[in-house]
Amino acid sequence: MKELKCSHCGSTLVIDENKEYAKCDYCGSKYKLKDDLNVNINLDDTMKEVINTGLGAFKNTSRFMVVPIILFVIFFIAIVMFGIFSSIDSKNEFDDNRNKIEESIKSQQDSALKERFNFQFSGDNGTKNAFFLRDTLDTIVESNKTNERIVTLVFDGKETTDEKEIIDIKHSLDGDYEVSFTYDDDGYISKIVVDKI
Ligand SMILES: [Zn+2]
Repeated sequence: MKELKCSHCGSTLVIDENKEYAKCDYCGSKYKLKDDLNVNINLDDTMKEVINTGLGAFKNTSRFMVVPIILFVIFFIAIVMFGIFSSIDSKNEFDDNRNKIEESIKSQQDSALKERFNFQFSGDNGTKNAFFLRDTLDTIVESNKTNERIVTLVFDGKETTDEKEIIDIKHSLDGDYEVSFTYDDDGYISKIVVDKI
């Protein structure tokens, strides 16, 4: 390749590594080599030809390389995305299954707790003699001491959870009573309703 000469002073031009600009070290003139070659450049025809040939070769090379590079990049991104999405998918699936199992265990535990809680009053509803009802009232007192859930006694329309009041009622019992249960939203016995027959 011929040396490029400054059209102002004739010194040799220094071309930058991108072959985009040339500069005259002697007089400071600057030349843009790539874009608008005909408008911006002060070089003579021989030099233009040299530069064009150089740039043309460079452009051809890059055009030749660009397609495979883009294809490779797309392929690479696709592989990476596929990997990310499949690992997200399997993680979500794993979490879903774990949540289902945990929910199922929790619901079984809830249901077992509920059965055990309600079981302590099993058979206590219906028409009951004072003899049996005293046991029920003892169970209410005992349950209210040991469980977080409190059972309310509704006796003759009056509600109480007070241990002393329930014991007093227990001692006043005589004859037959109608006993029924009221359940809370979770299905636990929350009230035991007692009415004198
Ligand atoms: Zn110069």
